[in-house]
Amino acid sequence: MSTADEPLEERIEQLLINEELRDEPLYQPLEELWGAYKDLARRIERISRISDAYQSLTKENETHLIKRLDKQLRQLNKVARISDHYQKMMHDLNLALREASTHDPLTGLGNRRLLLERLKEETDRSRRYARPLSIAMLDIDHFKRVNDAHGHELGDHVLMEVSRAMDAQIRDQDLCGRWGGEEFLIILPETRMDVACLVLDRVRGAIESLKMRIGDESISVTASIGVAEQRADDNYSDTINHADWALLTAKRSGRNQLSRAAQTDAD
Ligand code: GH3
Ligand code: MG
Ligand code: MG
Repeated sequence: MSTADEPLEERIEQLLINEELRDEPLYQPLEELWGAYKDLARRIERISRISDAYQSLTKENETHLIKRLDKQLRQLNKVARISDHYQKMMHDLNLALREASTHDPLTGLGNRRLLLERLKEETDRSRRYARPLSIAMLDIDHFKRVNDAHGHELGDHVLMEVSRAMDAQIRDQDLCGRWGGEEFLIILPETRMDVACLVLDRVRGAIESLKMRIGDESISVTASIGVAEQRADDNYSDTINHADWALLTAKRSGRNQLSRAAQTDAD
């Protein structure tokens, strides 16, 4: 006989296998109910098995997807790094190209192209804000003799030394560059003729004091300078012409000196 302590299912099983109870009125309904219950339990178990399988499949898919995403992310990172690298290379290359196209390879100073760009900017600014601007043309004296006496290579060396001396004497806002051959242009923004002359005479003095050694010998050079101040209605070519004329005057007056262009047409 089953007791109340046994689980309900076992108790029902006991009842249903008891032959003596077969004729009891509740036996039949209980048997049917038990059958239906067993069927339901089987179905629930099947559903839960399917759900477990589905869950583990979903998890598997998820893991696979995460792995794929991870891989794609790593590939993307790699591509981004390569692209950064190329961008930096392009940037450096552009800088190098810009440097090469705007600088003189021998002296390292700005070349005529850079000078023209800056001349345009500075004359525009000088006109727009009615600010002073001075421009000077500097030419090494008797430079042909240096080449003739000591060779072209030493001539190059002199050009480098003169450039260095010149660049060291001008102020941060000024720009000196190689106009061509042994001629240099110096742009002095925000500068009236009087102050420009002070700066330029310092440049002239520094060039004169340079001592360049060749073996036991020491050579030095001098330079002549013509300076002009931008006039209201002139463009920079006019001002350069005025500076050039002043330079000619400096040369004719004995070289190693500074000459000022007339400041007005009436001068
Ligand atoms: P001046 O005082 O009248 O200016 O006389 P100069 O001899 O300096 O002038 P000239 O125009 O007769 O000669 C300039 C010389 O500069 C001739 C040319 O060979 C030399 N020269 C120009 N560019 C270079 C260069 O890059 N290197 C060297 N070594 N010489 C150069
Ligand atoms: Mg010369
Ligand atoms: Mg010259």
